[in-house]
Amino acid sequence: MKSKVASFAVDHTTLDRGFYLRSLYTVAKVYPIKSYDLRFRAPREKAYLSPEAIHTIEHLMAHYLRERLGNKVVSFAPMGCKTGFYLVVKGCTPQRKVMEAVLAVCREQSNLQSAADVPGLTVVQCGNPEFYDIEGSNTALAEYGDLLEKLLNNK
Ligand SMILES: [Zn+2]
Repeated sequence: MKSKVASFAVDHTTLDRGFYLRSLYTVAKVYPIKSYDLRFRAPREKAYLSPEAIHTIEHLMAHYLRERLGNKVVSFAPMGCKTGFYLVVKGCTPQRKVMEAVLAVCREQSNLQSAADVPGLTVVQCGNPEFYDIEGSNTALAEYGDLLEKLLNNK
């Protein structure tokens, strides 16, 4: 079925891990908004992130990307297919700068010891604060950091 969803036009059987610009929107005809596809896992490998690790990474990126990019971050959200995340930023931010910010968070947050290291995991701040996976998050962030480093060095 034909669809207006940009990611439905991507062939996921050949999609590799990566950092892709997926959509460019313009709000009120003036403000560009970019949606990035942070693909942690190649779909064809069926090596999905655990839902608990996804939730942990969501908290870490939501918090630390805003420390680095401030109000340039519109949202950071998991993909339901468990292979990556969407990062939506104000379009005036250069892609390299966005990638470097994600890389920095991957590097700084991939050696966590416990849930106490994860911002916002409290009953007041989160809908399911018992639902996390520190080891899974550490591994996924370390691997994605390695990939981003390669991508940045090839540019
Ligand atoms: Zn939460």
